[in-house]
Amino acid sequence: MEPDRSTIWPYDARGDPGEFYYARYGHPSGAAAEASLGALEGGDALLFASGMGAATTVLLALCRPGATVALAAGAYYGTSLLLRELESWGLRSVEYDQTTAPPPADLVWVEAPANPTLTQPDWEAVRAHPGLVVCDATLSTPVYLRALDEGADVVLHSASKYLCGHHDALLGATVTREPALTARLRDLRSRTGITAAPDAAAALLRGLGSLTERLHRITATATDLATRLAAHTAVANVRYPGIGGVIAFEVADPRTVETRTRTILNATSLGGVRSTIESRHRWEGDRIPSGLLRLSVGLEDADDLWADLERALA
Ligand code: PLP
Repeated sequence: MEPDRSTIWPYDARGDPGEFYYARYGHPSGAAAEASLGALEGGDALLFASGMGAATTVLLALCRPGATVALAAGAYYGTSLLLRELESWGLRSVEYDQTTAPPPADLVWVEAPANPTLTQPDWEAVRAHPGLVVCDATLSTPVYLRALDEGADVVLHSASKYLCGHHDALLGATVTREPALTARLRDLRSRTGITAAPDAAAALLRGLGSLTERLHRITATATDLATRLAAHTAVANVRYPGIGGVIAFEVADPRTVETRTRTILNATSLGGVRSTIESRHRWEGDRIPSGLLRLSVGLEDADDLWADLERALA
């Protein structure tokens, strides 16, 4: 369905604004997609211009200068860069091993599972922590995790990945159950203008329609490929959390392997119907193993993907 791309809607006959009046505050496609995502997560969803837009809004809305954020080590590199950026605004951050208890902090930021190290948070320890809990559930999606039920106060998604699913929309989302939290995030989104585009919201509505089927097929293929990779003599340390399409593994010469695949695109990002592979060392340096390749499995045939990987690894 074509999204309504208007930026204004007229006031009513008495001169009062209706539900939509200026697109920075909300628009019909955004509201429809937020309702669908919220129903899947069991909370109130808000859309943002990107995953990082959602992350920026969460940090600015829920932290004050002097606050400390405990961030899962090995989680999305961009989140740690954002926190470093916000240091000059008085935000402190400390990385910790999310398979253990979080250190003292005002806000705990976990990623389930972490991209690309694929660790999972210790939810019991997270629930016992007094701080606010944000869970980046981009890699799980609500098909495999309802993080609000696990104890998160805010669920965050880069909807540019599985939720939209076709690498043609940049979009972020938060989901919250506490009305005051939702209102605070919505207000800051309006003030900063980190609003989602109507076309991206429409892409989310389309993506949610096939989300479960895509994720089930992707998981079946990824489970198969992770097993085959673990048995390959040129491959070490295969990490696969058992859900979703992201597999991390190590090889001696990642540049050669990633540039030899054909069916699998040598590109960044993950969660699309087309498989992608990349060496994360080019971006993250020594915080991850130099030989680590991140493979995001798409909807292609498992045997075709394996043939591509085998040829590249030969
Ligand atoms: N969170 C995770 C786990 C990601 O992988 C990414 C992007 O790669 C982001 C957040 C940021 O999302 P976006 O690229 O939509 O800004």
